[in-house]
Amino acid sequence: MKRTENLSFVLEGVQKLKFEDRPVPQLQDPHDVLVRVKFTGICGSDVHYWNCGQIGPFKVEKPMVLGHESSGIVEQIGSKVTTLKVGDRITMEPGEPCRRCDACKIGTYNLCPAMAFAATPPYDGTLAQYYRLPEDLCYQLPDSMSLEQGALVEPLSVAVHLVRQANVSPGSSIVVFGAGPVGLLCCAVAKAFGATKVIAVDIQPGRLEFAKRFEATSTFLPGSGSALENATRLRTENDLGNGADFVIDASGAEASINTGIHVLHPGGTYVQGGMGRDEVNFPITAACTKELVIKGSFRYSSGDYKLAIQLLASQQVKAQELITEIVKFEDAERAFQNVKAGRGIKILIAGPEE
Ligand SMILES: [Zn+2]
Ligand SMILES: [Zn+2]
Repeated sequence: MKRTENLSFVLEGVQKLKFEDRPVPQLQDPHDVLVRVKFTGICGSDVHYWNCGQIGPFKVEKPMVLGHESSGIVEQIGSKVTTLKVGDRITMEPGEPCRRCDACKIGTYNLCPAMAFAATPPYDGTLAQYYRLPEDLCYQLPDSMSLEQGALVEPLSVAVHLVRQANVSPGSSIVVFGAGPVGLLCCAVAKAFGATKVIAVDIQPGRLEFAKRFEATSTFLPGSGSALENATRLRTENDLGNGADFVIDASGAEASINTGIHVLHPGGTYVQGGMGRDEVNFPITAACTKELVIKGSFRYSSGDYKLAIQLLASQQVKAQELITEIVKFEDAERAFQNVKAGRGIKILIAGPEE
């Protein structure tokens, strides 16, 4: 592939990908750093924008660089940067909040209405040679962590935020719906938080086998019956008494959401992470009469990246086991095809060759 200034992997329109030579980003603030991107994980959202051009209100209206799960090396620092130096190995938190609104000021900056998030239209992503970020959104990797592991901090932070939203406690039981990367990482984080029963649910037996080898203490394959029937069987098979303490949905599927509400005991906690259809049928009477706690979870906020790095560095969460393939930058499109076809768990794309 020919040498370029800032080779980028661009979504031109629905199902149209191309490589493009773009200008190297300029530092916009004395606290900015320029990062040479080393590894980027492909996320379901990248694949979704490629196939549908839209997620909820976010619509691809002009060409956009994809990717937001990246690690890299600091290439250049602004005049006021004090926490990083050129050559540092870092993981990138790819969303820049406004820092001035109420949400930002109380530490829930993931809810900032002015968030500029990589590869969420109209903002360009990190699948490029270079990417600009403020220093406080670049986290230095401990020596024990590889740059490949660094690319997994983003999805792991999503899982950390979900498990924190649930307030998972020692000795508890949790059912996680969806055994894709985020669901699997939720299983691992819940276990690190002390959950003793961690049940992974998916409709693909292959994924359940992986979940079992990874961090799930048991798995459940839903049958063709109703959500209530599946919830009853899930409870019985796993000796959950009158229900699980926590449910995290990382699938977005209506059947999972319904089963999740029914599998909780009265007073249990349900957290929604998966995004499927915008509206679903919902068993609201069960939620009401069981006095369930129901919460949403969106990306990550204060402290989530730091905890994700600690969990990885201490190997309490062995996220690197999810990496099934690392492809060259020029093979990025093939990697996207593989994710779409469900081949592998987490595929990384290496940064453009020097
Ligand atoms: Zn992602
Ligand atoms: Zn804000």
